[in-house]
Amino acid sequence: MRTRNGKNTVFMFSALALAALAAFLWIFSAAKGREYRAEAAVTAVPTSTVHAINLASAAAALSAQETPSPAGTEAADAPTYVTPVPAALAAEETLAPPTASPAPTAVYLASGSAGEGVKALQQRLRELGYLEGEADGQFGRATKAAVVLFQKQHGLDADGIVGEKTWRTLFGDSAHAIEVTPTPAAFHGVAESVPFLVNKQHPVGNDYVPEHLVYIADVIPSSVAVLADAKAQGVSEAVHALKTMLEAAIADGVGHWKIREAYRTYDAQKRIFNNYVNKYMEDGRSRSSAISATRLTVADPGTSEHHTGLAFDLNATNTSDAFVDTAQYVWLVRHCWEYGFVIRYTDEKDDVTGFLGEEWHYRYVGVEHARKMHETGMCLEEYLEWLGAAE
Ligand SMILES: [Zn+2]
Repeated sequence: MRTRNGKNTVFMFSALALAALAAFLWIFSAAKGREYRAEAAVTAVPTSTVHAINLASAAAALSAQETPSPAGTEAADAPTYVTPVPAALAAEETLAPPTASPAPTAVYLASGSAGEGVKALQQRLRELGYLEGEADGQFGRATKAAVVLFQKQHGLDADGIVGEKTWRTLFGDSAHAIEVTPTPAAFHGVAESVPFLVNKQHPVGNDYVPEHLVYIADVIPSSVAVLADAKAQGVSEAVHALKTMLEAAIADGVGHWKIREAYRTYDAQKRIFNNYVNKYMEDGRSRSSAISATRLTVADPGTSEHHTGLAFDLNATNTSDAFVDTAQYVWLVRHCWEYGFVIRYTDEKDDVTGFLGEEWHYRYVGVEHARKMHETGMCLEEYLEWLGAAE
């Protein structure tokens, strides 16, 4: 029993000592805690003990450090919009791993977004040549097209949405200016070069004139189609294919065709482009805004498909309905590919082509290519990329 009593005494003594030690430590740590808090408020040390201190400012400081800054000049603007999530939430996330892994800032800019973030995005895209016109802070079609273009040229998913990855690339070291591939000078005749790509990234020179131009009136009689311009021209092979196609439609009971636009020279395209710009400016837009708006529907001189002599705008003469609502359009959707034509611009592909849908614009690419494009649903840009990859 002595031994047990002895043990009890020791135990009680130890307990008392521990209690005293605990009390001392509590007082000490409380004092220390105040000190620590005072320090923390100044330096914003991101540890769990300072959780109560100004989280928002710490988060702001962190995201300011870790936000890729827009190449120098615009750095001051950048951090304000990269944390669209509530500050407290962002702080929690940012501080969770106290080690300095990149802040998971929630960047998400897409069609319909607006504000300073979009503005900075647009400014950056402009700097690099992907976007023309004003940085108006509205994420519209032109901005989306520019983002898609940027993504494609940087090996990113071309979804037109600016998430973390696209944002970092855009403001990172690997971001490069738009690459414009000059069209090879050798566009001779037709056969091997019909899926000839002309768009914003693949302009033709201002002195480019297609070979084998013919007057459409010499090939297509007015009983098949009337011409808006009696002197309209096109590349011979394409004009003959157009004739065959329209004759087939008529044989199916779908007539009343009009050829509204065909080959256009650089100067003609320039006139059309400038007319649109002027019209928008009369509506009160600034010059750069008018240019952006024009570019959604009219190609810059040198980048129009009409410059190739392989594209035709068709119309119906027996109705004033929008072409998309006509029997002529329905017939073309079903059959144009059989004659080597594709509907070049559709709303589904406007991200890729950079143009809104144009139901009336038919592009000759030759039967073989048109068939493959019809079967796969690829637009010309996608098809050529696919062809290139397949080689
Ligand atoms: Zn057209």
